[in-house]
Amino acid sequence: MKVVLEHLTKIFPSRNKKSNEQVVAVNDFTFEIPDGKLIGLLGPSGCGKSTTLYMISGLQKPTGGKIFFGEDDVTELTPENRGVGLVFQNYALYPHMTVKQNILFPLQNLKGEDKLTKTVMLERAYEAARLVQIDDLMDRKPHELSGGQQQRVAIARALVKMPRVLLLDEPLSNLDARLRLQTREEIKRIQRETGITTVFVTHDQEEAMSISDMIVVMRLGVLQQIGAPQEVYDNPVNLFVAKFLGTPPINVFEGVVKGEKLYIGEQAVLDVKGAADQEVYVGIRPEGFITNPEGEFTTNLINVEVMGRDVSIVSKHPNAVSETIRSIVDADSAIDRDATTVSFSLKPHKVFLFSKETEQRIPFEVK
Ligand code: ATP
Repeated sequence: MKVVLEHLTKIFPSRNKKSNEQVVAVNDFTFEIPDGKLIGLLGPSGCGKSTTLYMISGLQKPTGGKIFFGEDDVTELTPENRGVGLVFQNYALYPHMTVKQNILFPLQNLKGEDKLTKTVMLERAYEAARLVQIDDLMDRKPHELSGGQQQRVAIARALVKMPRVLLLDEPLSNLDARLRLQTREEIKRIQRETGITTVFVTHDQEEAMSISDMIVVMRLGVLQQIGAPQEVYDNPVNLFVAKFLGTPPINVFEGVVKGEKLYIGEQAVLDVKGAADQEVYVGIRPEGFITNPEGEFTTNLINVEVMGRDVSIVSKHPNAVSETIRSIVDADSAIDRDATTVSFSLKPHKVFLFSKETEQRIPFEVK
């Protein structure tokens, strides 16, 4: 089931009687979620991710715009009539019911031709429970479960109705690190197996990138970029997106383009054919550095951290926007740890230029 958002907008009225300042939580959002895909809605706190999700679910009414499931305009439909499965960060289970009863509950409410036999309901409930690995906890009450287990019950309960669209709002936030990894892989697998179009909200870029077919990056209610995770990582449209994706984060410098050469400080660090003379922000991904004593770019060495396969070089540069620069290089790279400086060549496709004024990407020819 494809989901189409057309000029979707949500404005919250001012809470403060003295000021009329409204909050534009979602601003003219238009995009299409292809059928059967898992989409990660990603952005910092307050960017409008949850509001977008709640509008898709029907829990919140848009101020403007439309929502389509396939060809159906569902903008005015109630959540029950949209066929959505919802999982929240703190989804409250029915405390007096067992896990099994909680999962069965949505099925017991099905009416008319959707009504299922008891055997089919139980089969579906156990199948959903197995998918999230709680089938051995079916007779417990929610208070006898850990937070992570409760959340898995909530996921099973959302899946059991085989919804047209599955909506997950930070579903992994309450799980410990190991379970988080495991559960996100499960969500991916479940989504692949069921083929249910899924929208997953998170502020954790790594989480979104690891499981999404497409990510949608938002900022202050405004859509920034949509694409396959790797595509967005490799081709960020602006400085915000470049900074938001990647761990460790991209290194940002102040630079100047002069005669199709990029300067950081006095050093001409890269040929940037096609870029006009101007002041720029330069983003260099941590993996964009190659240690090379003859390299064009020299920084002040602070520390070398060996992390098994890779080596992380921490250094400083007066034109760096952040306190330190982090470069990830191969463990085989020759590094003089006692030196005060370290020199690098740069991988051109890992270097991005952004306008100092608009922070939009400035293209140049990568040889
Ligand atoms: P988080 O990751 O912190 O949940 P989010 O990206 O999901 O953030 P939203 O919850 O969608 O962000 O909120 C977007 C903006 O709308 C925020 O500025 C928030 O304060 C505001 N907002 C959300 N709900 C309401 C409301 N009911 N009334 C007024 N303002 C609201």
